[in-house]
Amino acid sequence: YSGFTRIDGKKEAKSIRDEIKIEVSRMNASKNVVPGLAVILVGERKDSASYVRSKKKACESVGIKSVDVCLPEDSSEEDVLKYILSFNEDPSIHGILVQLPLPSHLNEHNIVNAICKEKDVDGFHPFNIGLLAKRGSEPDFVPCTPKGCIELLHRYNVEIEGKRAVVIGRSNIVGMPVAHLLQNEDATVTTIHSKTRNPEEITREADILIAAAGQPNMVRGSWIKPGAVVIDVGINHVQDLNVPSGSRLVGDVCYEEARKVASAVTPVPGGVGPMTIAMLLSNTLTSAKSIHKFQ
Ligand code: NDP
Repeated sequence: YSGFTRIDGKKEAKSIRDEIKIEVSRMNASKNVVPGLAVILVGERKDSASYVRSKKKACESVGIKSVDVCLPEDSSEEDVLKYILSFNEDPSIHGILVQLPLPSHLNEHNIVNAICKEKDVDGFHPFNIGLLAKRGSEPDFVPCTPKGCIELLHRYNVEIEGKRAVVIGRSNIVGMPVAHLLQNEDATVTTIHSKTRNPEEITREADILIAAAGQPNMVRGSWIKPGAVVIDVGINHVQDLNVPSGSRLVGDVCYEEARKVASAVTPVPGGVGPMTIAMLLSNTLTSAKSIHKFQ
């Protein structure tokens, strides 16, 4: 496709972090407040530990204080709730995040619901999801990955209103909220999931295609409408014996095929991933501003 654009999430995330850094110091100078984010990690999943490290590093880079609590795999619901309740009350903490997925013996619903909605910077509390889904209302916080996808569309001047958007995936974390966000911006949205028949017939209709299925290279060039904009949320580790680590990261979209058909595609890595973390910082700043009534 002539005029192909590689959507550079890494670059956009950097410029968002730069803006946040300025706001953090402005707030600090005026209110003597440092925004604080608490991150709770339960168990030893390597991917989760690495996401928590990235979030911590990103906080440091903009001057947000981060506090992380790492709890053992066999922690009880009460153990986790104890920390959440104490962060809810802690005036130096403006955002609370529980790294998902939790070990299977823990009830995710009870734990996420315990985060007070004013500090729900992941936007997963039913109160915020409810407001996202309800017409004419706006949630206090929008989940970070979906917000990052829409932010990329905005920053690359992709028109959403009146367009056909297709979302692959319907999870609470990505697919469902991103479909709501697109609909709220007046796209006509179709969601595909694991029971959808002939998904490629549906994706070929999409002006905007968001892939969040967790299936390596599922979206082939032939699935994409010529000139479409494709946002690849997938993060999949696939075996590659040619690299020292033995595996490499791929998205849900076959990038090399997609770039020949689409007008713009996000790469993996370097697309949605860095934007997710930038949106977390942005939500934490918003929370601190709102709690301290700072414009
Ligand atoms: P989930 O596994 O929770 O959800 C996957 C969704 O995709 C489900 O709705 C599932 O359908 C659907 N699905 C799975 N296989 C197919 C298929 N073959 N055809 C059609 N639909 C399918 O994953 P998440 O939403 O949490 O994450 C999705 C991907 O995004 C993962 O690769 C994850 O690593 C990545 N991710 C990336 C982030 C980032 O910052 N870039 C952040 C979060 C996630 P059903 O509902 O029927 O089961």
